[in-house]
Amino acid sequence: MIEFKNVSKVYPNGTVALKNVNFKIERGEFVFIVGSSGSGKSTLLKTIFREELPTKGSITINDFNLNDMDKKEIPYFRRTMGIVFQDFRLIPTMSVYDNVAFAMRVIGASENEIRKRVPYVLSLVGLSSKARELPEKISGGEQQRAALARALVNNADVIIADEPTGNIDPEMSIDIVNLLNRINENGTTVIMVTHEHELVKKYNHRLICIDDGEIVSDIPKGAQNNNIIYRKKNDEEICRQKILSNYKKDKKSSVPVNKDIEKMNKEEKKKIIDKALSGTFELENDYSKYLEDGEK
Ligand code: ADP
Repeated sequence: MIEFKNVSKVYPNGTVALKNVNFKIERGEFVFIVGSSGSGKSTLLKTIFREELPTKGSITINDFNLNDMDKKEIPYFRRTMGIVFQDFRLIPTMSVYDNVAFAMRVIGASENEIRKRVPYVLSLVGLSSKARELPEKISGGEQQRAALARALVNNADVIIADEPTGNIDPEMSIDIVNLLNRINENGTTVIMVTHEHELVKKYNHRLICIDDGEIVSDIPKGAQNNNIIYRKKNDEEICRQKILSNYKKDKKSSVPVNKDIEKMNKEEKKKIIDKALSGTFELENDYSKYLEDGEK
């Protein structure tokens, strides 16, 4: 279980990257994290794997309290996490096999264990036939599969993927998310940052949206629907959850009619989003007029 309680992060230069973030991720969940560039996604991931410490608040990951961790514990904690980056970060001079084996060697696994485990993990990601290739000789999608194998090889409890599909073509992206799904079905928690709107819609996993360091919505698995509109701004996906401006007033709700959500403050926005999701009020059916060109 991953729990953030009132977590804020202020970098030494004064940038506030996370503001009072609260959430809980249970073991075995698959969570997408979306947000525009600079909204705090990487900082959030970095605080999860303890590359950064929060300025305020507490982070608990399984049995580890990240605020108050003995230095000796850090390597043990990190072994419970597998991390996948957008740019793969494979060692260019090592074969696919050796890149994966290296992750086991650094934690002191025996050659015997390595010989058994690496081929198995490579077969899980469909790379057995490329084991002896150098990263530059295989495609981007294959390199990402190798990186995924490396993240999995030490039996991580949590896989953290920071835009893992950012550098690969759309077909391969689906491949990678399908693999992450399979890993997740076997009980591993998966947290994936993405800009890819289509992937988020396709899988309907839990979706946490972050904007300007704050969590602006946390949509449970299976609950995404047309109530949530993604807009494109300057060609960049943003996660501002645009609940329609013309919602209908429900008798039970105190929501004002015809008020544009973009003009609301954060508290008001959150209330509206929560109400829309819980079905407290109805939204207008014709969503398309609120979408920008290219999304209709
Ligand atoms: P994202 O991953 O969503 O693009 P980041 O977490 O990288 O967002 O950044 C959030 C904010 O924190 C941005 O304003 C960014 O410029 C700032 N930031 C990130 N890392 C540092 C750092 N090491 N020092 C100072 N500011 C940083």
